[in-house]
Amino acid sequence: MKGFAMTGPNKVAWIEKEKPKAGPRDAIIKPTALAPCSSDIHTVWEGGIDLQGEIRILGHEAIGIVDEVGNEVTDFKPGDKVIVPAITPNWSAKASQCGLHQHADCMLGGYQFTFIRDGSMAEYFLVNDADANLAIQPDDMSDEAALMLTDMVTTGFSGAENANIQIGDDVVVIGIGPVGLNAVAGAALRGAGKLFAVGSRPDCINIAKTYGATDIINYKKGDIVEQVLEATDGKGADAVVIAGGNSETFAQAIQMAKPGSTISNINYFGVQNYKSAGDILPIPRDAWGAGMAHKTITGGLCPGGRVRMEQLVNVVEAGRFDPSLLITHRFKGLEKVEDALYLMKDKPRDLIKPMVTL
Ligand code: NAD
Ligand code: ZN
Repeated sequence: MKGFAMTGPNKVAWIEKEKPKAGPRDAIIKPTALAPCSSDIHTVWEGGIDLQGEIRILGHEAIGIVDEVGNEVTDFKPGDKVIVPAITPNWSAKASQCGLHQHADCMLGGYQFTFIRDGSMAEYFLVNDADANLAIQPDDMSDEAALMLTDMVTTGFSGAENANIQIGDDVVVIGIGPVGLNAVAGAALRGAGKLFAVGSRPDCINIAKTYGATDIINYKKGDIVEQVLEATDGKGADAVVIAGGNSETFAQAIQMAKPGSTISNINYFGVQNYKSAGDILPIPRDAWGAGMAHKTITGGLCPGGRVRMEQLVNVVEAGRFDPSLLITHRFKGLEKVEDALYLMKDKPRDLIKPMVTL
């Protein structure tokens, strides 16, 4: 079969591989729609994953049709239309049993596609622990919406969840690409009061408002810390979600957060995101109350697995928000994932998320 792979640092190519075979608890999926992710760009061009000479098929955002299941899989059968989360951990691992499936077996071990085995940009791909990692795509759910649940929605929502937002809180979301826009939607669902979206692109601003942002802060027009402090009568925010920016943004998030608040990071701080601090993310001493400010900094890889996907399906089916608005560019045919990936890399201003249908 054909697959689009990372063949080395800064290198991608089409490769031929044998179609994977399902082990007892696995499923083989034939993708029906795929999306590249900013994480694929980090992986290939920013040293995000060191594959140590291995050639791996890219891709972790997919929906598809079950092609084959192993003999221990009970809940899915060939022909089922499924949503495949980006995070498909080994649910038997100790970390999974302790409630941290994202780091099953090793740090980031829940992120199996590309990191541990071939990803979904291929004619077929394998999903481990199928009963615990797949979710049925409802007949009336659009492919656009289902595809966005796999990574963008679960990540953005986890940013809001980890920020511990209480009803009426003043919340800031920094960076409103697809992940940040879902953090805005998640913060609104959690009951944010004022909801500040920090961004500059008109299309993103429009969706941020649709998803519940009450105020837009343009980081290209002045210091965002000053803007947030001014808008909150000098108090600062109760919760800040970081979904874009660099090491300076990280420091600003802490500066705009009030004592007792939570700073929730979902941004990937690859080497290119460091402005000046080398390998250290800066915590500004003053804003940290010289260690006395009770500001919680948290963050991590998004949750995956079947139950998470089913919960997100519930949110969409209940009509609470529409993730399909994030798709701005469409392609048809597996061979077009290459164009879609380069589009992500080039990031035209009107791009939020491309989708490739097969
Ligand atoms: P993106 O690049 O499309 O969006 C980031 C946005 O931030 C862009 O719109 C950019 O213009 C904006 N931005 C840049 N500098 C800024 C600044 N100083 N202030 C405010 N905004 C700024 O990326 P995305 O797909 O939305 O993903 C966001 C981040 O989340 C990436 O780092 C990605 O790798 C990461 N991610 C994390 C997980 C996870 O599990 N935690 C999953 C997927 C993606
Ligand atoms: Zn992703």
